[in-house]
Amino acid sequence: MAHPIAPAAAPAITPISLKTILPWAVFFTILMLALVYFVGAEQGATSLISGEDVHEWVHDGRHLLGFPCH
Ligand SMILES: [Zn+2]
Repeated sequence: MAHPIAPAAAPAITPISLKTILPWAVFFTILMLALVYFVGAEQGATSLISGEDVHEWVHDGRHLLGFPCH
């Protein structure tokens, strides 16, 4: 006969204040915007880094996200 598994006690949820999470939210927003820039707009006239190296590194991600490419 199988023994029923006792339900685990729910962990206590500690709320995170906006003051605590705001610097992380700003940091990750800037990080994601930089990532989207390099994937989506780092080419041609908007290019910050000369050459095709960045474009080639993010090329698959560019197609995956639907940015126009070639
Ligand atoms: Zn392409």
